[in-house]
Amino acid sequence: MKLASVTALAVLLAATAAQATCTYDIDSRVQVRHERLREFERSLAARMGVSVNDIDAPVSPLAGVKWRIQGRSRVGLVWGTWLTWDEGYTDSQGRFDYVDPDKSCIRRQVRIQVAFENDRQRVAAPAGWPMLLGAVLVGSAASAPSPWYDVFLAEVGSTNLTFDDPIVFRAPAANDMPIPPTLGEPLSRTRAEIWVLVSRLRSAMASLGAEYAFDPTPLIVVYPTDIREISNAEEQSFADPIHPNNPVYIHRNADGTRDQGNVKTVLHELMHVWAYQNTHGEDAMLLELVMSRDTHACKDETLAPFHEAFAEYASQQVFEMLFPGLPVDSEFSSPARPLSRRTLTSGVDCLGDRVMDDEHDLEHCENGWMSIFHTLTMGAPLFEYGDPVGGGVTALGDSLCREATKRLAIPAMSCGVSFADLLSVFLGANAVDKGDDLRAADLTLQEFLARAVDLDVLSAAQMRDTKDLLDPEGSLEAEDTSLCEWKLNLGLPNFSL
Ligand SMILES: [Zn+2]
Repeated sequence: MKLASVTALAVLLAATAAQATCTYDIDSRVQVRHERLREFERSLAARMGVSVNDIDAPVSPLAGVKWRIQGRSRVGLVWGTWLTWDEGYTDSQGRFDYVDPDKSCIRRQVRIQVAFENDRQRVAAPAGWPMLLGAVLVGSAASAPSPWYDVFLAEVGSTNLTFDDPIVFRAPAANDMPIPPTLGEPLSRTRAEIWVLVSRLRSAMASLGAEYAFDPTPLIVVYPTDIREISNAEEQSFADPIHPNNPVYIHRNADGTRDQGNVKTVLHELMHVWAYQNTHGEDAMLLELVMSRDTHACKDETLAPFHEAFAEYASQQVFEMLFPGLPVDSEFSSPARPLSRRTLTSGVDCLGDRVMDDEHDLEHCENGWMSIFHTLTMGAPLFEYGDPVGGGVTALGDSLCREATKRLAIPAMSCGVSFADLLSVFLGANAVDKGDDLRAADLTLQEFLARAVDLDVLSAAQMRDTKDLLDPEGSLEAEDTSLCEWKLNLGLPNFSL
């Protein structure tokens, strides 16, 4: 083409644009309807005092997700390359907007995409499956991309474009207008709900105090994960103890018959992350995972039982904060209360075969540490739980697993040891200095409580009495101590034991 023709063409295009421009005005918000993680709906129904059948699944904004608006036009007979016109992050209500009053009025396609990603959290798709190679985890989630989802697609001609409907990840209904397939696809909907769960967990932890907030960021959840080298029967979700971000891998097998994309698993794994970020020496957890394919129950070392118990205990604590109205003790398979001495020393089903009859046993077993944490922070006196006391000593299984130590739970409330106080034992005297964090050598009952005393979470007398109360073979009951002056604070109910 000669130079003169190019100039003429440029002038012609400019003239056309000046004569006819179209306005594109997009003002939308991105949301998810909680149809997969049912705790959102059940908690709402419980707070309203109605059945879940009487309410619609609640809708949450997808706050802080990445969005971009792209367009493309025809080049000859085919569509050209997508060009990004604008991008950003949704606000706290999931809102974003884009206005251009000066678009050329040509036929083109416009799409909106979102990705569950910002600098604080990411819900990723697996970038190739992670693999276990010997004891090494191969396949880093740090590079696992959060996929772009097409959430809006339109073809426009010489007209304005106005779009102000909400964009909702949800199950398509029978009489629906067609929606982009990714909005209705189960895995993307679960990822969207996990996004909300991670956001709320981060807020809940930060609400306890800035020092308890998750760091470093982003928090990464990879869903679904299916490691080829591990059989489906054995595979579990896990949090990587080695990677600086401690990415969480949530297991789902290929045909979806085993799917751990649920609230309790995600919270459990994320609380592992919190512990890994605030302790030293947790790398050995990976070896435990690889060698025994299991980090639960009782172990020779205290590391795995401590971390497993903390993750479960802490996930119960945050579950209570995030889903008010749902009774945490019956929601979880592990009891959310101290175990009775009778349970500890009988080695019943819930504890595996292990009989815990001294302090040493407690700290080597997941249920032992669970009982320690719950004893320290029990939020309500035991009698409020309405445990039938007495019952035959032959009672086994779940009822005995859920039998709290009879009067043990009473002092905690007036001791005033809160969940945050317990977390402060991890951080040490200087919450900012990582060198102060809990070490593997501190993971015994003696050292953990001694650290709590150093930090003024407990007095020396309270530490002594707490240890006596926890002793599976001891006989001290809360009412026999002046541990927390509980009689003064609570008044003594008339209950017979
Ligand atoms: Zn775990």
